Order: sequence, then structure tokens, then C-alpha cells
Amino acid sequence: MEIKTLDKLPEKIIIPLRQHRGAVCEPLVKKGDRVLIGQKIGDSEEYYSSAVHSSVCGEVIAIEEAAHPDGNKSMSVIIQPEDSNETVVFSPSKDLTPEKLAELIKESGIVEHYGMPTHTVLKPTGKNIDTVLINATSSEWIGGTFGTPKEYASQVMDALKLLMKAAGAKKGAIVLRTDDNDSIDAFEGIEVDNKKLRVAPLVGGRKIGYYFNEQESDIVVLSQERIYGKKILNFFTYNVTGRKVRIGCDPTDVGVAVCGVKSAKALYDAVHEGKPFYDTVVSLEGVSNHMEYILVKIGTPFKDIIEACGFTGDIGKIIANGVRTGVAQYTDQVPVTKGTTRISLQKPEEIIRDQPVACIHCARCVDVCPVSLVPSRLNVMADQGRFDECRQMHIGNCIECGRCAVVCPSRIHILQLIRYAKNAIEKAYADAAPKESSNLKLGCCGGE
Ligand code: SF4
Ligand code: SF4
Repeated sequence: MEIKTLDKLPEKIIIPLRQHRGAVCEPLVKKGDRVLIGQKIGDSEEYYSSAVHSSVCGEVIAIEEAAHPDGNKSMSVIIQPEDSNETVVFSPSKDLTPEKLAELIKESGIVEHYGMPTHTVLKPTGKNIDTVLINATSSEWIGGTFGTPKEYASQVMDALKLLMKAAGAKKGAIVLRTDDNDSIDAFEGIEVDNKKLRVAPLVGGRKIGYYFNEQESDIVVLSQERIYGKKILNFFTYNVTGRKVRIGCDPTDVGVAVCGVKSAKALYDAVHEGKPFYDTVVSLEGVSNHMEYILVKIGTPFKDIIEACGFTGDIGKIIANGVRTGVAQYTDQVPVTKGTTRISLQKPEEIIRDQPVACIHCARCVDVCPVSLVPSRLNVMADQGRFDECRQMHIGNCIECGRCAVVCPSRIHILQLIRYAKNAIEKAYADAAPKESSNLKLGCCGGE
């Protein structure tokens, strides 16, 4: 698989100060400042936050609100890039204590694919982490800019050990997908503490503890059939470890930190190359009959990526992060952020313009919901602003998979309405989801 890079510098780079969940960063630069590649340009004193860095060398021409791929606007540092590779020198010590390593993760701006700053997942306030999992089920080996599958395996294994050290966790695992043969071949026989590991398929009712014992190792590499996307953390945790995550809780509540391949690669680069998180690989679909993969600087407008890939026709719609669950963009000036994984283009004739009609109570949305919610009720309550009732019906458990909207014959925008209500609840309540429920089966614990 070939990864492209952009030959031409964009006219401007737009770096949002909000690229994670938690406190928004304050700008550390002002209009007229010259910044270097890797320079920290935004930070927050809050623990639940993560630094942002310049991905180019150039002049800050504005600090203002700009389009964000989540559909809202965000205060952003706008830089006019210059043709220079001047980079901030940053050489972290190789022998960091767990506390210093966690600090380095925050300073390097490393965030998880589901938005949480990585250091807060490894060291959550008031909780202990004993196991770190790297979810590699939705990532191909090339997805994180690795040169070869072997490089991928050794760097991700190295990153797992660093993540475990930062968390103070004794156990760790990398979870691959059963049909990702390149990755399985690369990991097969990988050495950990002078012991060769085999990639063990997670089968039957066996959970991770079985494989720690069987391989006599605190680190294992597993494979399993399902893909676990961005928000399916609790299912993933249960299926791998057997630990149930209660409604309204997350894996850190049961001592598990779930990290992704991108953040693992970013940590490897920070420790071994002194490079903060300022570039990422995004895929582009809709330009040709195959997916394009492009390594881009964070802050690059979508427009420059689309042009560089040779798209010339009329664009009907631009969607960030997947056609089914992503967000349609109102401008092609929206920039790539740390959380951007995919840009999808649709031609005008491909856009579905059907208007929603009344619900016919077919219950198809209920049948397909993997967390046993009642999307048909949730969308009505969300539409009417009845957010308390949405909360009582466990809207916080929605993993935003979009299946309900796909099967709905009335073409109701169920997912958008659910997201709208979730955002409103998050803003309105400090504690948006209940910690206890009599309806545990509806939750995210794997249905036991
Ligand atoms: S998007 Fe719809 S189907 Fe998916 S979890 Fe949420 S309510 Fe259920
Ligand atoms: S799938 Fe659509 S029409 Fe059927 S019950 Fe759900 S919301 Fe109503």
C-alpha cells in the first residue's frame, strides 16, 4: 500500500486548539509570531487536556474561530507556512520515570482515537490501571506510517511497553484482527523478555487471563474476528478481558486502558525521535476506485488534500470520518485534526436527498442496535428536547455506530438527533450518565 505526501504547501494551516476531549488549550503564540515545526502553540493547565503543536514553519497570521471537522467552530491558530524545515529540537531522556513519561505524553499532544488525552487514560484521576490494551482491530499495519509490517510490529510492541510503564500496569496486550494476515505474520514469534510469542486467537469463552498463563508472559498478542471502532470501548474491554464495564462507566473504571495504533506510533516517535504529534495518515475515498492514503500535517485544509489527489469534478458532499457515522462538512477549508481518519467525497448525483417521513414503528432500528437501545424513542425525545428522558433511556451508551439510521425505512436522521441530545446533555450536566442502572443488560458489558 502506497502512502502519498502533499508536494505543495497549503496556503494556510489551521490548527484548532480543541482536538481532544477536556479543556480547550489557550494559545501560546500571537499574531505575527514565527513558529517552527513541532513548536508548542497551545496548552492548558488542566489535567484533562493535551498540548497542540505547529506542524509547519511559518508566521501566525490569525488566532480566530474556524471550521472544525466535528461540525462546530473552534478557536484556531492560523499559520502561513514557509518553505522551511526548521524544527524545534526536543530530545526526551530515554530513561523516564512513569510520571515523566505521562508528562511527556501530555506535552507531545498524544490523544486517543476516541478523543481522550492518552495520559488521562493511562493515569485517570482516582483509579488504578493494571492492564493496557492496544486495539489494532480496525487498523491495517500501514495505517500509522510504518515502513514495513515488521517495523509496525516492533514499534507497536515497544509503545505497549512504554504505555504500560506510564500507567504502572503489569499486563498488556495487542489485539489484531483475525483476517489481517500481514499484521499476524509480523507479530508471530515477536520476542518479549527473550520469549517468542505466538499470536493467539481469542476463541470460545477464553479471555486474556488464560493467554497470560498459557504463554507465561505478562504481554500477549491476540487476534479476534470483530472490528472495534472508535466508541466501542466497553464491548472491546469485556470481550478481551472478561471485565464488565457498567453503564455510564468506561474501561478505566475496571482497571483497563484502551489505546489505539495511532497513539502508540505517536508515543514511539515522541520517545525515540523527539517528535510531537503533528502529522497523521488520512484515507481519502471517492476520488478513484480505490482508497488513497496520505500522510498530512495536522491543520491541512481538506481542499488541499482533495486537489493533491487529483479530484477535478463537482463535489456534492465532503464527509469527515466515514459515510455512515461521520459529519458532513459545510466548507472544504475545514482542517485535518488528530482525530481525522477519513475524508469521503460524494458526487452531486450520489447524495441521498430523501426527506425523513413519519416513523412507521417497524422496530428495525431496535433490532440492529448493538447496545439494545430504543433508537425510535430516543430520536423523538431528542427532537423534542426531552433530554432528561433521553438520559433515563441510557442515551450515553450509544456507540454511534449509525446502524439504526441505515436501516430506517422512514429515513429519519436518528444518529444526528442522538448526537444532538448527547451534546446537549454533556453541556448541561457535569455527570451526564448514571453510574447505576437496574437495566444492566442494556448496557455495554457484552450481554452477560
Ligand atoms: S447509533 Fe443507533 S444502532 Fe448504533 S448504538 Fe446508537 S442507537 Fe444503537
Ligand atoms: S427504523 Fe425508523 S421507522 Fe422503523 S421504528 Fe425505527 S425510527 Fe421508526
